[in-house]
Amino acid sequence: MRETTDDRRCLELEDRYAAHNYHPLDVVLSRGEGAHVWDTEGRRYLDFLAAYSAVNQGHNHPRIVAALIEQAKTLALTSRAFHNDRFGPFCAKLAALSGYERVLMMNTGAEAVETAIKAARKWGYERKDIPDGKARILVFSGNFHGRTTTIVGFSDGESRHHFGPFGEGFQVLPFGDLDAVRAAFDENVVAVLVEPIQGEGGVIVPPPDFLPGLRRLCDQRHALLICDEIQSGLGRAGALFAHRLAGVRADAVTIGKALSGGLYPVSAFLADDEVMQVFTPGTHGSTYGGNPLACAVADAALDVLVDEELVERSARLGERFLSRLRAIDSPWIAEVRGAGLWAGIELLPAAGGARRFCEALRARGILAKETHVHTIRLAPPLVIAERDLDAALDALEEVLGA
Ligand SMILES: *Cc1c(COP(=O)(O)O)cnc(C)c1O
Repeated sequence: MRETTDDRRCLELEDRYAAHNYHPLDVVLSRGEGAHVWDTEGRRYLDFLAAYSAVNQGHNHPRIVAALIEQAKTLALTSRAFHNDRFGPFCAKLAALSGYERVLMMNTGAEAVETAIKAARKWGYERKDIPDGKARILVFSGNFHGRTTTIVGFSDGESRHHFGPFGEGFQVLPFGDLDAVRAAFDENVVAVLVEPIQGEGGVIVPPPDFLPGLRRLCDQRHALLICDEIQSGLGRAGALFAHRLAGVRADAVTIGKALSGGLYPVSAFLADDEVMQVFTPGTHGSTYGGNPLACAVADAALDVLVDEELVERSARLGERFLSRLRAIDSPWIAEVRGAGLWAGIELLPAAGGARRFCEALRARGILAKETHVHTIRLAPPLVIAERDLDAALDALEEVLGA
């Protein structure tokens, strides 16, 4: 056993030596299993954040852990300068599952989004004959697509403040507003980049005609519809991809987070030949992208998703979850939004912010994190036992009830 450092010391060291770029809840975790995590004193919690939905398969899933250990002992990294025996088979599995012809593997979500931006622009210049340097991409207010300088350049709030100057070629439009999208379209628009349900924005579900409307506009104007499913995808919203709930098919998709079940950073950009074939040797890449360890871990994580029917489980448990949340009789709740095992509880200003409710939930053994001051976001691992889900709902009723 390694020596453990006590709670207070961990907090002190972090405060003293780590960058202050997060504001964590006051709990120091040291172990996880399934939907549960334990703090250094052995207290058990239900994890209702699931690492921003990276842990949909549950903490330390034994099948994924076994794949990780086995592959780490065999071959971890070759770079794409050589072939490796895990890469092709994994891409084939992901293509078959997702219904896209090709896969480009990266590591973090932000890199997958960067890949999408590069693909869309190159496609625009080479397939649509847009004048070089003029490609435009339409995005939406309240978006979260990652933390690179390009990406924060088209986000809002503190994630972009004082990080400029920013690149050009993005226009931010109100989320859910089709008229604004129609008006913003011109011949240089190569893509619309959208989260089908905004995660960091507070689990914002757009009006039902929004995604179908974007699909139609993209078809009419010969632009790509790109869905960022890094948080909403792989079962979280009760579907493999949340945009499919609206009955549309995106031209390209970014995934990450749960693609590895939380064991390793793995992300991917998915598209058909027409888009993906704009990349030729030397035009894009990543040292770790597509490495054998990533492929082995993600391969096992996808098997778990399919074999344990986690997408269906999310849809089924999600119905009960959301209907019970919506039935809470509370003086504080303005609105409950969500899909699948994913909810945003928007509080009234009089509630004084979501943080104190998250602290109260923590005292009852449930870890949730506020987003945007007034929203409690709930996103348990999709493997959560039904009785644990019910226990958490009881606690939420207590904390938020009249
Ligand atoms: C988390 C997230 C990202 C960024 O992923 P990282 O792995 O943190 O770079 C991008 N898009 C969405 C929708 C996300 O939720």
